[in-house]
Formats: sequence, C-alpha cells, structure tokens
Amino acid sequence: MYLKSLEISGFKSFAKKANLKFDSPISAIVGPNGSGKSNIAEAFRFVLGEQSMKSLRGKRGEDLIWNGAGDGGRANRASVKVVFDNSRRFLPIDFEEVIIERAVYRDSVNEYLINGSQVRLKDVLELLSAAHIGSSGHHIISQGEADKILNSSSRDRKTMIEDALGLKIYQYKCLESGRKLLKTEENIKSVISLRREIAPHIKFLFRQVEKIEKAKTMRGELGVLYKEYFARENLYLTETRKILESKLKSPREKLATLEHELARAKKVLEDSVSKDSKTEEVIRFEKEMKTAREEKDALLRELGRLEGEIFSLKKIIEREQKSSRAENTTVSAGDIRALVEKVEPQIETLKENPTSLFTLIKSTIDSLKNFIKYGEYSGSVTGEVEEEMNSLEEKRKGLDTRVKEAEQKEKELQREYNKIRQEIEKDKDSSRDAEKAVFRILSEESRIRAELQKLSGEEDRLSRDKEAFARELDEAKVFVGQAVWQFKDFTLSEGEALTAEIVISESRGKQEERRKTIEKIKIRLEDMGGGGGEEILKEYKEVSERDAFLERELTDLEKSADDLKKLIEELGKKLQNEFADGVAKINKEFQEFFELMFGGGSASLSITKEKKRKRISEETSEGMETFYDEEDKEEIEEGIEVSVSLPRKRIKGLMMLSGGERALTSIALLFAMSQVKPPPFIILDETDAALDEANSRKYSDMVENLSKSSQLILITHNRETMSRAGVLYGVTMDSSGISKVLSVKFDEAVAVAK
Ligand code: ATP
Repeated sequence: MYLKSLEISGFKSFAKKANLKFDSPISAIVGPNGSGKSNIAEAFRFVLGEQSMKSLRGKRGEDLIWNGAGDGGRANRASVKVVFDNSRRFLPIDFEEVIIERAVYRDSVNEYLINGSQVRLKDVLELLSAAHIGSSGHHIISQGEADKILNSSSRDRKTMIEDALGLKIYQYKCLESGRKLLKTEENIKSVISLRREIAPHIKFLFRQVEKIEKAKTMRGELGVLYKEYFARENLYLTETRKILESKLKSPREKLATLEHELARAKKVLEDSVSKDSKTEEVIRFEKEMKTAREEKDALLRELGRLEGEIFSLKKIIEREQKSSRAENTTVSAGDIRALVEKVEPQIETLKENPTSLFTLIKSTIDSLKNFIKYGEYSGSVTGEVEEEMNSLEEKRKGLDTRVKEAEQKEKELQREYNKIRQEIEKDKDSSRDAEKAVFRILSEESRIRAELQKLSGEEDRLSRDKEAFARELDEAKVFVGQAVWQFKDFTLSEGEALTAEIVISESRGKQEERRKTIEKIKIRLEDMGGGGGEEILKEYKEVSERDAFLERELTDLEKSADDLKKLIEELGKKLQNEFADGVAKINKEFQEFFELMFGGGSASLSITKEKKRKRISEETSEGMETFYDEEDKEEIEEGIEVSVSLPRKRIKGLMMLSGGERALTSIALLFAMSQVKPPPFIILDETDAALDEANSRKYSDMVENLSKSSQLILITHNRETMSRAGVLYGVTMDSSGISKVLSVKFDEAVAVAK
C-alpha cells in the first residue's frame, strides 16, 4: 500500500484539521449529503496538483479556503497534505516517506512542498506522473463523473488513457524537449545573427592583423638585414678609421719634421744677418793690418838708413885707418859732433814724419857726403866716428826688435783676419744651404699638405658615414627596437666571424645595395603605418575568440537541437508504441470486465485518427496549460473511440445506453485501465450510485478484485460497497458548517450513510 494518510486544513468545509489514515486496501467514506465527503476527493485532486477550478468546484482559489459559516471565522489558507509510503520507491525520489503538500492563499497564490521543501507545480506533476497519478485524474472519479470517460472527446479520452498507462511522463518530456528545442532554435538564430553582425568587423580586423603580421614579418626581415648591415658598417667604420689614421700618421709626422726643419733653416737665415758685423770686423782688421805693415816698413827703412849710415861710418873708419897709415889724417871729435848735430834733427824729423823719411834720409846722406868731400872734417875723426857708429848700432838693435815686434803683430792680425774670413765663408755656405732647405721644405710641405688634404676628404666622408650610421641606428630602433644591438653578434651564414678584412675587401657598392634594400622595406613599413598594432591584435584575438566561442556554441546548440529532435521523435515513437500496446491490453481487460458486468456482449477501444488541432502549451504560474487552436489541416492526430455491444440487445454505440449501462460501461473501462497500469490508489466518489443491488454486488466484487493492485477510497451510500471496506470514515457537519471526520463501525456507517 502506498497511500498512508491525508490531512486537510482550512480546505472548503474542513475548517479544522482533519486526518484520515488509509491503512486498509479499501477505505470507505460515508456520511449524509452535504457533509463534505466530496470535499475529501477534491482535497486529493487539489494536493495532487489539479489546476482546473471547475474540477474543484470553484471559480477562484479563494473558493477553496474555509469561508466561515455561522459564527466561525474565515481561514486565510487552505492546505492539504498527502503522505505516501515510498519504501518501494514507487515515486522516483530517495525518501522512505513522501509528503506532498499544497496550500492556497486568498490571493490565489499556491504553494507546493515536497517533504517540506518548496517546489514548483511542475516538480509535483513530474514526480506523480511516474506513479501513474497524473493530473487528468483518471483515478479520481468524482461524483456523477463515472461516465466522464465516455462523455469526453476522443482526444481527451486518449489523454486519460495515456495518463492511466503512465505515458504522461513521456508527454512531459516531449513537451519539455519541444520547449527546449524552441528555445534552442531561438538561441541558434540569435547566435547566427550575432556572428553575422560581428563578421564584417572580424573581416576588417583580420585584414588589419594580416597587415600587422606582414609588417611583423617584414620587421623580422628588416632585423636580419639590419644585423648584417650594421655589423658590416660598424666594422667598416672602425677599420677605415684605423687605415686612415695609419695613412695620416706618416705625412703628419713628416710635416712636423718639416716644420721643425723649416724653423731651423729660418733661424739660420736670420742668423746670416749677423755676418755684416763680421764684415766690419774684417775691414777693421784690414785697416789695422795696413797700419801695422806701414809701421813695419818705416822701421825697416829706418833700419836700412841706419845700416847705410853704419856702413858709411864703417867706410870712413876704414879710410881713415888707411890714410892715417897713409896720410895720418885725424878727424877731430868736434867735427863728428858737428856732423851729429847736423844729422840728428833730420833724424828726429824723420821719426816724426815717416812720409818725408826718404827725403830726409837723402838730405842727411848728402850732408854727410859733403861733409866728407869738402873736408869739412879734418884731421883725425876716427874716435868720433866710432862713437857715432856705436850709438847707431845701439839704435839698430832697438829697431830690429821693433821690426820683429811689428812683424809679429802683422802676423797675428793676419791670422785673426783669416779666421774671420773663414767664418764669413762658412756662414755664406750655411745660409745658402738654409735657403735651399727652405725651398725644399716648402715644396715638400705643400706636397704633404696636398696629400693630407686628400686624406681629410676621406676623413670627412668617414665622419659623414659615422653620422649616418648613428642616424640609421636611431631609425632602426623605431622599427626593430632593442634588437638593433644584435648586430654585435652577427656571424656569416657559415658561423664564420665577420672580419675587418672581409668587410674592407668588399666593394662599398654592395653595402649601399644593402642600405637601399633596407630603405625600401622601411618605406613599405611606413606606408603600412601603425606601431605594433597591439590594440588591433588584442581586439582581433578577443573578437575571434568570441566568434570561435559562438561557433562552438552554435555547434553545441545545433547538436542539442538535433538531440532534442531525436529525443522527441523517440519519445513520440515510444509513446505511440506503448500507447498501442497499452490500448490492446486495456481492450482485453475491458472486454473481460464488460462481460462480467453485462454477462456477455463486447466492448473495445479503437485508436482513431483525425485532423489535428493546433496545440498550444504554455507554462503559467499555475503550471502547464494546453489550449487547442483551429484545426490544422496538415496534421492528423489520434483519439480513442469506445464501441460497445450489449448482450441480447441490438444496442451499439454509447449514446443508446441507459444511465446504469453507461455507469457500468464506464466502470468496466476504468477498472480495465487500472488493471493494466495500476495506480497506487483510486478514489471513486459515488460511482456506484446508479447501480441496482445485483450490479452493486458485481461492482463490489470488481472493487475487491481491484484493491489487490490499487488502494481504494470509496465515497459511497451503498451498503454493499461499505461492506467491503476495511476502514470506514464517517463525515459529519454540524451547525457551524464545519466537516468532521471520525472512524466508524460498519453499522454506524450504514446509519451515518442514511
Ligand atoms: P452529497 O452526499 O450530497 O454529495 P457531500 O457530502 O459530498 O454531499 P460536499 O459536496 O462534499 O458534500 O460538501 C459540500 C458542502 O461543503 C456544502 O455544504 C458547502 O457549503 C460546503 N463548502 C464548500 N466550499 C466551502 C467553503 N469554501 N467554505 C465553507 N464551506 C464550504
């Protein structure tokens, strides 16, 4: 048994809490008309999620709440609790006991709880559908509704049978999947339109990115080219500088030497100006030498005259000596003195005036001749003459010394003079050399200067190249950043080091070609514009990631749409198959129950096909609601028709059955349905009302039989039915309009029922 109890509180006439325990397979609820029995059946409908107010005999939610009667105040809330024993897990929830509760408030707000947790209606319906107690309520037959299944449209009948067969769960799933599919298709559409929206932007960004990538590649190429170019240029500059320095070294040194030499030569030339002073000295010496020579000559002449005088005196002396021998002439001393007195002034004059020396000497000599010729002297003169001669000899000796001195002086002067002359000659030679040297130096200098001039052109070119190198490095930094310094690690493709020799031996034109290639790439890069395009790359990455995400989402959505379609199809097939199967099984039972009821005859269900009406399902706050729209000409839908043939009667067709017959047929069908997929409980509210005694017995037999598979709650006035119940509840209503439930004995029940 699954159903344990029902608690009603504030619901309709049950102002006070009422608890009904169902611990018997068959429970009967009895009581006088209007006491509130049907309210119990409705309490079941209510708690199991019934949404139709009509089925609950009301218009609004408020109608379900104890409204007060007499002096009893109104309730604000109606609640019903049903307790199931779930030890056999007939409800797919992992609890031993499942309590489903529903409450409604005056503002029509409903509350649903499963085991105390607030849930949605949908959750309640889904949970119950697994136990074949769906909202179509085929297991709750309200008063006067026994033949409801016969009165319903073939489509609604089908729904009831589906419900009884426990197929509702598939329908829920189908509907749910349909809704999901719809939502998925909407999502697919919006994803597609989103992608379509961003597509041009992605395309634009992609082109930009392509450009950036190309520029990046070009920048990479440029880096490689730069590396070699700068490595070569750097080496070229350093090496060329070295070569130039070495070229400059010798001419510079030479020039310095020449300048030094020039200075020296100039000094020599300047010094030659001092030769004039030497010339003056020469002249002075020449003069002195002349004077010395003249003095010497005068002395020599004096000497000559003296010697002549001495000679003459000697002769006189000799003659005197002869004559004295012969004549014995004696020259007095007075005579000699007179001669000396005569000659002496002349000699003095001679000394004083050398120019008249000759004339004087002559006149002196003449005086002497005359003296001797005319005998101015007489007698013996020999003594005087000898005296005279001795004095002259003395004088000669003095003169000799003086001549020797004069000669010595002249010689010395001559030597000095020669020395100066030599010096002058020497000076003349060196100034000539200096002049020559100046000319040579100047011409050499101008040659070297020309050479240096040429080299300075090279130097200029080199410094221009150096400036250009620095400029190019700066520019390169803009394009390749710090990678520009990598040129220092440059090696040739063979890993061979780039040497100065290699660089210098290459023609400059090649390096120029490299530079031009670099320039071309630079211009192209500049034309492309933009820096690293980080923003664009970032945006492209983001946008394309978003697009990729959308694409993945689209694939996922399409897959889930496909899955849903498949699921719907599968569910549809399953539903169809299980339905056909179920109907066949019901038919078998239906025939048996029918035969049992009518003692023969035949009854069957058949699946009909008719044009489908559009079904619109909406989820409202009250749960799923289904509407039918105009006929859809395209689709066909199935329904269920009931055909009966009563024994011994020619009656065929439901319309022609009597009330009792309709009730019996309905009961047969309901019981048949319950046999195939027994619901945990069945509530039959005065289903037996129209039966006569014989049929009541048959009915009770069937009920008893049915109670083996489903718990039965029977609201009845029928004695026969009451007699089969294990538990009997009597419902009473006092003057306050409040229903009360109490357990009663069979006899009491019979009494209460009346
Ligand atoms: P019968 O045997 O004639 O079918 P019953 O026992 O099935 O009668 P119900 O139809 O269950 O009787 O009960 C109807 C009673 O419930 C009426 O008296 C009605 O006034 C009362 N009732 C219904 N709704 C409310 C409400 N909201 N507040 C108070 N009383 C209510």
